[in-house]
Amino acid sequence: EREALRVYKDVVPRRADGTVIQVAANLGSLEEVEAAQEAGAMGVGLFRTELLFMRHMHLPSEDMQAETYAELARAFPDHPVIVRTLDIGGDKPISGVEFPEEENPFLGWRGIRMCLDRTDIFKVQLRALLRAAVHGNLRVMLPMVSTVEEVRRTRVLIDECAAELKAEGVAHGAFPLGVMIETPAAVFGAEALAKEVAFFSIGTNDLTQYVMAADRLNPSVANLNDAAHPAVMAAVEQAARAAVAAGIEIGMCGEAAARTDLIPEFIRMGLTELSMSPASVQATKKQLSELFEKAR
Ligand code: PEP
Ligand code: MG
Repeated sequence: EREALRVYKDVVPRRADGTVIQVAANLGSLEEVEAAQEAGAMGVGLFRTELLFMRHMHLPSEDMQAETYAELARAFPDHPVIVRTLDIGGDKPISGVEFPEEENPFLGWRGIRMCLDRTDIFKVQLRALLRAAVHGNLRVMLPMVSTVEEVRRTRVLIDECAAELKAEGVAHGAFPLGVMIETPAAVFGAEALAKEVAFFSIGTNDLTQYVMAADRLNPSVANLNDAAHPAVMAAVEQAARAAVAAGIEIGMCGEAAARTDLIPEFIRMGLTELSMSPASVQATKKQLSELFEKAR
């Protein structure tokens, strides 16, 4: 069966109107790049940077980060590579950051919230991303966004970093900025957010836990943790409508992006990118090709 899927490796799924649907890979380290290329991934829809920060006893340097992001961008010269800024919280701490004791870490100081408070750490990552942007089609997205203010404050920091790099004579580029849609606030505020960013990427793992109020790590409520629940699907659709109306791109990088039962719905809603584990890329290309073939 694996062999049968290989014929889909280089397939480019196209909607009836000609729009390409990007089937991209979710990666957590450069070691996974080869598997993604082998599978025919059309770029990277989510590069989780947490591992870079958790692997070492110290925070990763700007040079080390810049080299990592540049290598990633160079690995997919023909497709977008979306790097997500640090998405860490009290449930998975890193050395170099003092996390407070929290009753509800999933509702706490994490993701963009932590980064905006620790601009010393955040700016190192943003500078590294600006430097890496010279080497390919790099995009950047922010995790756990719940307000427009978080995006605006990040933009101020990006501008500061770019000005610093310029003053230092360090080569750097620019990147489109997007947000993850993974909080109910981002869904209900999607219209306003769409005016601020270049793209949305739906994080159904967190969106499901927050819409259903069911901890994604708690097996006792696992039955509620289903992206197919009509309430979660309605949230996805609301975000998609806002994106389509604003003319920005919308994709998905939560695990639901590879669900064969939901993919036709996501396409109907207007998503143009699905990002998943490399192991699911070829089967998804196959499903999309057949779906679009039927519609023709
Ligand atoms: C998500 O929340 O759907 C997501 C892709 O991010 P993570 O699983 O890393 O929280
Ligand atoms: Mg998430």
